[in-house]
Amino acid sequence: MGDIFSVRIAGNVTSRKVLASAEYGCVVAGAKLLLVMGHTRCGAVGAAVKLICSPRTAAEATGCQHLDHIVNDIQQSADSATCRAVEERSTSEQTATVDAVARRNVLRVVEEICEQSQTLDGLVQTGRIAIVGAMYDVVTGDIEFLVEHGMNHPRPQEPA
Ligand SMILES: [Zn+2]
Repeated sequence: MGDIFSVRIAGNVTSRKVLASAEYGCVVAGAKLLLVMGHTRCGAVGAAVKLICSPRTAAEATGCQHLDHIVNDIQQSADSATCRAVEERSTSEQTATVDAVARRNVLRVVEEICEQSQTLDGLVQTGRIAIVGAMYDVVTGDIEFLVEHGMNHPRPQEPA
């Protein structure tokens, strides 16, 4: 399969520095596939969901000074109804709800990468890379592929 240019960050969120790494990986190092991979039972996503209903910031709740930068991004993929649902449900339903948010978060980040990086979006439009979302199941080891941008799959807002 070849080498992997790995950019790892809690919550698989993006930022200018993450985009810079991804752009370098694709343009200079020659990666052909940009895979945004979230995972089931993600602590960062679980915390982000629970903190929606909390008056406290992530920093106040955890003591991690910069964690709100990641939590606030993930929270764009959930709302207060998600948070209340998690508080009221059984443990297995909570896990499923958090996993669903993690999946939406992957799809949101795929969109965000295309919107924020003209470099990467240009590579997609010219068929040189594909951007794919995926979820890694930490229990089974399976990887579920969610969406593909590029190659033979046009972006949703640009139907072929
Ligand atoms: Zn995680």
